Amino acid sequence: MDQFARSCVREGDTTTTGGRVEARPQQWPVTYGNDRKHATFEGDPVWCPACESYGVTQCVPPYRRNTGPDGRQKNLDGDLCLCRCPSPPRLIAKFNNVRTSFSVEEVLSMPGSGAWLEFAGHSLAGISKHAAHDEQVLLEWEEVEGVPYRIEVNDGRVLTGVVGPDGLLPRVQTLSEAEYTVYWGDEALARAMGAAS
Ligand SMILES: [Zn+2]
Repeated sequence: MDQFARSCVREGDTTTTGGRVEARPQQWPVTYGNDRKHATFEGDPVWCPACESYGVTQCVPPYRRNTGPDGRQKNLDGDLCLCRCPSPPRLIAKFNNVRTSFSVEEVLSMPGSGAWLEFAGHSLAGISKHAAHDEQVLLEWEEVEGVPYRIEVNDGRVLTGVVGPDGLLPRVQTLSEAEYTVYWGDEALARAMGAAS
């Protein structure tokens, strides 16, 4: 299932700080669209009005190897702008006709995808829902409101709570950087008791 899609970035696209992505001149530029704007690649310059400096683009997962004629990785919506801002702005693609799609399994298998997932508005619940369908896990997502949950991440973190009316779990930022297990209901409570004793 192609659940996650990221649009390719072109020259003139913007950033979360209202920046402007530019394309370094290339011998064989890659262009998209009728207006033949150049695709941008990792390391291309970005003007950032927030810190009034030029940054460069940096690719972030999830992505597959997809390089241009000069060997640089293609930029995708949500990639970073490394400028002087303390928190790097993200690239925003305006043109959505050229996209790269990823399956749920792929995203989960690509370390470091968590931050992009968060940026793109995906939640752990959204992913787990599809993964759950694949693995035929017990609960129908829509029916879990009020059920206690416990998420144990293999780096030692534990997230607990009660599922709200939207059926969503909290986002786990390091989702794909660490293994995790979700426990529900009685099992979640039992593990909490075990952890306390
Ligand atoms: Zn900046």
